[in-house]
Amino acid sequence: STAAHQPKVCIVGSGPAGFYTAQHLLKNHQSLQVDIYEKLPVPFGLVRFGVAPDHPEVKNVINTFTQTAHHERCSFYGNVTVGSDITVDLLKRAYHAVILSYGAEGNRSLGIPGEGLPGVYSAKDFVGWYNGLPENKSLEPDLSSETAVILGQGNVALDVARILLSPVELLKKTDITESSLEAIAASKIQRVLIVGRRGPLQVACTIKELREMIKLPGSKPQLDPADFEGLKDVIEDLPRPRKRLSELLLKAAMEKPVGKEAERQAAASRCWGFKFLRSPVEILAKANGARAVGIRLAVNRLEGSGDSARVTPTEGREDVNCGLIINSIGYQSLPIDPAVPFDYKQAVIPNTMGRVNQAPGLYCSGWVKRGPTGVIATTMNDSFDTARSVLQDLESGQLDTTSAKPGYVFVKAVLEQQGVSPVSFTGWEKIDAAEIMKGKEAGKPREKLLDVAEMLKLARA
Ligand code: FAD
Repeated sequence: STAAHQPKVCIVGSGPAGFYTAQHLLKNHQSLQVDIYEKLPVPFGLVRFGVAPDHPEVKNVINTFTQTAHHERCSFYGNVTVGSDITVDLLKRAYHAVILSYGAEGNRSLGIPGEGLPGVYSAKDFVGWYNGLPENKSLEPDLSSETAVILGQGNVALDVARILLSPVELLKKTDITESSLEAIAASKIQRVLIVGRRGPLQVACTIKELREMIKLPGSKPQLDPADFEGLKDVIEDLPRPRKRLSELLLKAAMEKPVGKEAERQAAASRCWGFKFLRSPVEILAKANGARAVGIRLAVNRLEGSGDSARVTPTEGREDVNCGLIINSIGYQSLPIDPAVPFDYKQAVIPNTMGRVNQAPGLYCSGWVKRGPTGVIATTMNDSFDTARSVLQDLESGQLDTTSAKPGYVFVKAVLEQQGVSPVSFTGWEKIDAAEIMKGKEAGKPREKLLDVAEMLKLARA
């Protein structure tokens, strides 16, 4: 018969991209089944493991995702790593369409000597550490020096700077992990320098994050007015979001604080600043080579203006003494299965409106589709676009549903053979309840479990 069967779709990854793609598919199709596979026993990707602990309001999207997970035509299977526990080809046998939404699990490397020295961390690992990502629980970053250097001037860099400098009284009311809170309480870091290749008009952060830094209790901004000379007139003609951001930065750099703010800054024991037009060239090691004690920066010259301004390194060099260096130049998507096309240069899955190029039945959404930039709202829009492509292909017959697909029944058999037993959404809700209870004792919204074995035990209890 040529009658259409129930379309079965699976999604790889349960971050914002996975959940928003699922939401749009379920809302706009009356019979389609969506199964979400997630590597970790717990859902929500970077909403849980990326978003800063002192930004609880951002995590409210979890409520919407939970509603989607409870939809009668949606199932969640955690603790399943696609690419190793099951291949994408086997998923294609089980489902009419496979949507890859597995984010960006790598960190771009600096490609400079000394990058591997103790004292140098990727932002991804550092963020994972304070947010309780199981693989980073034993990072133990060395916070014993006075100065930290962060490479990169995006929102992730500012998150890291804020967490390093925030008073412990503020952090302890968040869901930051107990062990990182203890380490931060004992931290000797007094000064954080946030280094960027380009100038003040090219910083990659947004105004909310910049404002939080400027007002950070116990810290004051140290910005060099020389970096901002002559910018006042240029700012007038900038497009609006960039204009407001630059005005705020300029004000913080050029205007002497008055009144309460002057008092606050005078009393601040910690400080932070931006370093512009600098590129890292080498991590400087202690004489015995045992650890990083500084960084050598090349002085850049800016060519052109606005967002497209480019830099050329000059012969100039500047050494900065610091014992903690965090590389925040960007997350990076990685290939998870040789059967899926991958653009190594852009580090994305090559696609057209979410349809993976030259791979019928394969789709992608989120950071693995567009690259690791953009907030949750951006990820939502691009996930809706991908869902629309899937729905169009179902409608047009491009995605053939004339044969029935086995869906999870088939996957379950494969996973059993591999000795993998998935965590259901109900299993996650048991972990969730245990974390919230543990947090309550400490006056926090939750205390995250750090150990996968412990999570699995709770989920199956
Ligand atoms: P992810 O959220 O990374 O989700 C991918 C999921 O796929 C993960 O759960 C991962 O475990 C899973 N996965 C990976 N590999 C596999 C595999 N092989 N098999 C199965 N599953 C797999 N946005 C905001 O709007 N506000 C903020 O305050 C904010 N703060 C941020 C802070 C940081 C440090 C970072 C890095 C990002 C922040 N963002 C913020 C951006 C936001 O997190 C992203 O836009 C969004 O998470 C991207 O969604 P995604 O689903 O593509 O990727």
